[in-house]
Amino acid sequence: MYKKRKIKFIIIGILAVAVFLVWSAYFSSQPNDKMKVYFFDVGQGDAAMIETPNRNQILIDGGPDNSILSKLGRVMPFYDRTIELVILTHPDSDHLAGLVEVMKNYEIGAILTNGRDCASAICQEFSRIVKQKNIKTITADIGQKIDFGSGVKMDILLPAKPSLTKVADGKSEDNNLSIISRLAYGADSFLFTGDAEAKEEMELISACPYLKAEVLKVAHHGSKNSTSELFLDKVRPKFSIISSGAKNRYGHPKPETLEKLKKIGAEILRTDLWGDIKLESEGKGVVTR
Ligand SMILES: [Zn+2]
Repeated sequence: MYKKRKIKFIIIGILAVAVFLVWSAYFSSQPNDKMKVYFFDVGQGDAAMIETPNRNQILIDGGPDNSILSKLGRVMPFYDRTIELVILTHPDSDHLAGLVEVMKNYEIGAILTNGRDCASAICQEFSRIVKQKNIKTITADIGQKIDFGSGVKMDILLPAKPSLTKVADGKSEDNNLSIISRLAYGADSFLFTGDAEAKEEMELISACPYLKAEVLKVAHHGSKNSTSELFLDKVRPKFSIISSGAKNRYGHPKPETLEKLKKIGAEILRTDLWGDIKLESEGKGVVTR
């Protein structure tokens, strides 16, 4: 008898905990005014995720391997298997390889790419899965605007679609065709730059004279070929995010880049030193979490 009652109490206890967990998951997933922006520590590569107040997810690049899957698993609600938009800034494997894994494991609303041909093995795998899962693909172009709802909007600043630009080849041309986008929520804005180098930064300055942003995803992992003084002077970020691998073989971020960021008074947040970075915005000032 005593034993039976004890079992009953244990079962009731387990049920109460289960109900609590379900409700707390439900309430934590209800819309609020907060937009969250994560810059994941995926080693030497880029992967950032935006979660809008109405719980849409936008993933910009996926890093070099499947480590992105555990990162997403940690921050997305367990029942949400959809990423509304994936942006591949350019098809280098330190941005693309993780996205292939994401496409295998999540439903993807649409993919935005720079539309340039790419023949590498990882690009072929990417194209195969896009085809197999029939994922809608959009080619980026200057002037595109995306409305994610609840006041979150994105402008595509560069590059122009392929038919409008001359054929490019070579490594630095690849970087200089990175999709550059600006995300805005209330008074806050975030500039995502992929691996753009000084050449694309100059193009951006002439295409888009107003570039002020509270948060700058520093281009090309903090390499010395990006983040020119002229460009930084236009952006004047409060926070600058550097996504690079701990002790990476390229020596990113470069001391000269860090120096330039310090000089304009930007707070530097680095995935190689601090791991995942989380920022929050209610449209009136970005805070780190
Ligand atoms: Zn890169």
